[in-house]
Amino acid sequence: MSIKLDGKKLSQEIQARLSKDVSEGLLKINKVPTLAVIRIGDDPASGVYVNNKEKACAKVGINSLVHHLHEKVSYKEVDQLIDKLNSDDSVDGILLQLPLPQELNAQRLISQISSSKDVDGLNEINVGKLIKCEPGLRSCTPAGIINLLNSQNIKIEGKRVVVIGRSLLVGKPISSMMLNLNGTVTIAHSKTKNLKDICLQADILVVAAGKPRFIDESFIKEGAVIIDVGIHRLKNSTNNITQLCGDVIMENVIPKASAYTPVPGGVGPMTVTMLLVNTITSWQKRCGLNSTLDDLLP
Ligand code: NAD
Repeated sequence: MSIKLDGKKLSQEIQARLSKDVSEGLLKINKVPTLAVIRIGDDPASGVYVNNKEKACAKVGINSLVHHLHEKVSYKEVDQLIDKLNSDDSVDGILLQLPLPQELNAQRLISQISSSKDVDGLNEINVGKLIKCEPGLRSCTPAGIINLLNSQNIKIEGKRVVVIGRSLLVGKPISSMMLNLNGTVTIAHSKTKNLKDICLQADILVVAAGKPRFIDESFIKEGAVIIDVGIHRLKNSTNNITQLCGDVIMENVIPKASAYTPVPGGVGPMTVTMLLVNTITSWQKRCGLNSTLDDLLP
């Protein structure tokens, strides 16, 4: 029997804990945790993600403030807004919703966010802390994956881990976390040769290639744990209905897997929940409260 790593359920459990931590913190200090979200342009998918984040914030008692900027906004204007939010004491976290219009240099802007407010865990300081295995704000999707594995007591130590993808957002940080947790990690990417042979050695396979239904059962070792990070909207040509799917043909892979993440309802909800964990951690630190969530930040 294959275990479903249910991100929706785990998110609800963690969010209940976060609400309690916020309420308890507010008995000691008079400052509500606050997340500033910068959205640029009108990309509909970004709109959906920002709405979901606002709703999740409201559920646990985080105040969210969305700064919606025009798609033609200049680099300097975004930079100035980040500066203003960095020095605003009421703001605990700053999130720059990706992707940005091509003319803006996303990496450079992310670097401008103060590391103590970098709730996406993507700037140099927090990435450096992850690599050095020091405490810090962690990249949300990878941290969510580690929490999903922990929730089912799936050990990483000594396991052969294969990660498909080497992005700054997913592939590199999840590889670092797996390495810090004593996995033996191989990173595969678009120039990797013999991908199938490499995947067949994996006890834990993380697929973040951004290619719909790319991995089938022939890539899977019997008993492997399969983490599908991909998320795609595909239109069914016969009934015109849009469906979500991942990078893995999961219905064919499940019979071989010991555990797997569904799409939707696996990694996606955990990404949002880890944003809340980072924001509340930042708020606790900035307000001199005890950190209560360190066990969730691998
Ligand atoms: P990306 O496009 O930045 O990176 C994709 C990576 O896959 C690259 O490093 C590339 O080298 C590798 N790759 C591409 N084709 C390959 C091939 N044929 N063989 C081996 N490697 C190959 O994407 P990303 O930002 O890392 O996101 C990956 C996927 O995860 C996307 O579908 C994205 O939408 C999804 N995503 C989901 C969440 C979530 O919360 N569920 C969060 C972030 C990203």
